[in-house]
Amino acid sequence: MEYFFNDLQKEVKQMARTIAEEKIVPVRARLDEMEEFPRDIMKSLGDTGLLGVYLPEEYGGLGGGCLDLCLVVEELSRACSGVAVSYAVNSLGTFMLLEHGTEEQKRKYLPDIASGQKLTAFALTEETAGSDAGGVKTTATPTEGGYILNGSKIFITNGGEADIYTIIALTDKNKGIRGASAILVEKGVPGFSFGRKEKKMGIRASATRELIFEDCFVPAENLIGQEGAGFPQAMRLFELSRPGIGAQALGLAQGAMEAAVEYAKQRIQFGHPIISLQAIQHMLANMAIEIEAARALIYATARNVDAGVKKINMESAMAKIFASDVAMKVTTDAVQVFGGVGYMRDYPVEKMMRDAKITQIYEGTNQVLRNVVAAELRKKKF
Ligand SMILES: Cc1cc2nc3c(=O)[nH]c(=O)nc-3n(C[C@H](O)[C@H](O)[C@H](O)COP(=O)(O)OP(=O)(O)OC[C@H]3O[C@@H](n4cnc5c(N)ncnc54)[C@H](O)[C@@H]3O)c2cc1C
Repeated sequence: MEYFFNDLQKEVKQMARTIAEEKIVPVRARLDEMEEFPRDIMKSLGDTGLLGVYLPEEYGGLGGGCLDLCLVVEELSRACSGVAVSYAVNSLGTFMLLEHGTEEQKRKYLPDIASGQKLTAFALTEETAGSDAGGVKTTATPTEGGYILNGSKIFITNGGEADIYTIIALTDKNKGIRGASAILVEKGVPGFSFGRKEKKMGIRASATRELIFEDCFVPAENLIGQEGAGFPQAMRLFELSRPGIGAQALGLAQGAMEAAVEYAKQRIQFGHPIISLQAIQHMLANMAIEIEAARALIYATARNVDAGVKKINMESAMAKIFASDVAMKVTTDAVQVFGGVGYMRDYPVEKMMRDAKITQIYEGTNQVLRNVVAAELRKKKF
């Protein structure tokens, strides 16, 4: 399908494909097995400018948008979803700064983020605040010149590896989530430490850790946007970032389908390649149909974001739900096409199946996002 990409989009897609083929494919099994953060690959993504693909040129970025970012995530995820999410989360940790930060904050942080000198993360989830994000308990108590942070955040992607963290904490705990604010915290400040690295089913190249705040002082200038606006800012952030999770799922599904087609062409049973069997052909055909449908939905949503459409909640949720369900189905079927060897770690499809599961869970589970779609439908006048 021709998507009429502009020159930058064609270029960044190709650059990401080259890094994926040359630097990620050869090491992805090791990164998964050793649960190793891909520091060198992040450096390459920084050196080529891809970490700043969606950032304006005046801050050192490439001047692209949501679609450009999705194209990079898709290509990286086609090779390894753990690397792709470690890359993608940098935008999650940065979007809020881009949308609500002051000019001074942008000039201070964005050039280092664009070049990959500094990695970022975003922290909302807590023990008591998962799908119910309103359950945040971490406090940022106002004090002279800033805030004192206390509490903890769990399951934070790039936790411990990132240099800059956008966190959501209560600056007025009496107001509950209406008293939440977004605050930047830099790694290394006193009172900010990390819990153990989580041992995960998939995306094992990515680092997931707890963030712990114990009387941690952050200066007032680290507040992003207005005090009390943290929750709506976070909800808007997810509208912008969910197409990226969709792209992660899409790349995974594409990689699994390609591996399944190649395997089916060369595996001989009953005297013929298994791709000559209709049962296998139909599985592969369904993969291709669903992948192309997911791609169309993600690219259309990303294009709407780039065109400045402000209310994109429903489309963003639909793109993430659809693509992640497709990724889970396609990767499971890819293992089926491989038969017994598909279950072994010698081939990439078992890892892809493990990696796919998380795309149905994070940035809003697919159940919770179906609630979002249904709520938008209820408001609509047809
Ligand atoms: C590997 C990994 C990386 C992550 N990275 C980050 C990160 O970088 N930053 C961050 O802030 N968070 C991160 N998260 C957290 C992630 O977004 C949450 O795990 C997710 O939102 C689900 O919350 P929960 O785990 O508390 O599940 P729960 O909310 O406890 O949900 C449990 C089950 O109940 C269902 N459920 C709950 N409420 C409803 C409802 N109202 N309607 C229907 N079903 C419902 C859910 O769909 C799910 O099936 C990460 C999580 C993981 C596992």
